[in-house]
Amino acid sequence: MQQLQNYIGGRLLPAASGRTFEVFEPATGGLLGAVPDSDAADVAAAVTAGAAAWPAWRGLTAEERRQWLNRIADGIEQRAAAFARAESDDTGKPLKLAASLDIPRAVANFRFFADAATQFATEAHAMPGTAINYTLRQPLGVVACISPWNLPLYLLSWKVAPALATGNTVVAKPSEFTPLTAHLLAQLCAEIALPAGVLNIVQGLGARAGQALIEHPAVRAISFTGGTTTGRAIAAAAAQDFKRVTLELGGKNATLVFADCDFDAAVAGCVRAAFTNQGEICLCGSRILIEASIYERFRDALVAKVRALKVGDPLDAASDQGAIVSQPHLQKVLGAIEEARRLKGRILCGGERVQASGRCANGWFVAPTLVDGLPADCAVNQEEIFGPVATLVPFAGEAEALQLANSTRFGLAASLWSRDVARCHRVAEELQAGVVWINTWLMRDLRTPIGGVKHSGLGREGGLEALRFFTEPKNVCVKYA
Ligand code: NAD
Repeated sequence: MQQLQNYIGGRLLPAASGRTFEVFEPATGGLLGAVPDSDAADVAAAVTAGAAAWPAWRGLTAEERRQWLNRIADGIEQRAAAFARAESDDTGKPLKLAASLDIPRAVANFRFFADAATQFATEAHAMPGTAINYTLRQPLGVVACISPWNLPLYLLSWKVAPALATGNTVVAKPSEFTPLTAHLLAQLCAEIALPAGVLNIVQGLGARAGQALIEHPAVRAISFTGGTTTGRAIAAAAAQDFKRVTLELGGKNATLVFADCDFDAAVAGCVRAAFTNQGEICLCGSRILIEASIYERFRDALVAKVRALKVGDPLDAASDQGAIVSQPHLQKVLGAIEEARRLKGRILCGGERVQASGRCANGWFVAPTLVDGLPADCAVNQEEIFGPVATLVPFAGEAEALQLANSTRFGLAASLWSRDVARCHRVAEELQAGVVWINTWLMRDLRTPIGGVKHSGLGREGGLEALRFFTEPKNVCVKYA
């Protein structure tokens, strides 16, 4: 049982009130640690520390900030095994996934933005013979980075790195369900003596610490990843002070499988897209749309592959799927399966809790579940489940595939599987999504913009988009004498 701390003004501290709450290990149901239950006082101290650190931090050259970010990346890399273990313990995800995806990606995020900021250039607009305009891109000040529980360090670093690289100071609020790797990051920053107040990490509940952070008048921007309902509340709060905001929200992503696809690659792709990280990735393909002419054959191949997935102890290298992040989320996922049953959906595989053995006997495991026979407009097909549950829906042709794919209020990602090049481009153009993958899923180039349309969000992260978000453009017009 660990005692976690906040990281404010370069110091590791308990909440000013002394209050804590408990965090549990999904794979065992056991107690993992006590977390500072921070409130407005802790947030105010963190924002004050960030404001005090800002003039010196923004005064560094991009190269000097690059070196600091690389020191953070080096530190995570050196402790990669401890970070991966903490991420797996905290989220329930397989250790091999944390070690191969989450932690290397957090390192890559710091390194990528360390370099990117040194390459960031601004525009000039000439008025020949008369004047020249040039654009300054200046850091904003103290910014808030609020992240969810599914990819805790990966998504936190995806915000913190560009914010710091462009000369802002940060108050970060990790998810209350998964505070461990942010705590390790705080310890690391203290150890390498990152200038005090440049990065502050306030642990705590969304409704208390998070709310205080978004309402703090000195916070200039909010970079948020989480649920759509929370995102709406954050947008409303941000509007009070006209804070800049980027919202990466939920999804109900479609995977479109056309009859002319590479069959085996598409089956493997659908399974990966639906069940990686227990289906707890915002980009997961939870609606699998299959062309009617191959429906039965494709469904049977999918079911066989999903049945072969091994659910169990995240520390076991043979486990493909670990535990669900929390008890409330377990209930939400099971509730969605119940709703599918109530609507007379056919449970093709899974559909129940998995009773693991040994140290995981009390863990929160759900069998990977495929359902078909549900109407396209029912809640199971429309609302985000964010767990190992995917639905199968047949379609008759391209037009119907598009209509089904675009028929939810979300618009985060889609993937499509076809060998017809013209069709791939045509469908990609018409999909209402911020990200479209063709014959692949979750292939990422950190330079590309990522984000959603409709209720999946506002703004984009990644590459230049992130550097632009965390800087204010200022035009300077110089008239020739
Ligand atoms: P959540 O919205 O409950 O919480 C996200 C973060 O916001 C947490 O740190 C939480 O403490 C904080 N928070 C909650 N209420 C707040 C408030 N009033 N003010 C300020 N902060 C507050 O989401 P979650 O359950 O942690 O994450 C799951 C959701 O995140 C899913 O909907 C998923 O699709 C989404 N997500 C989206 C992306 C993306 O890039 N689009 C990536 C990952 C997860």
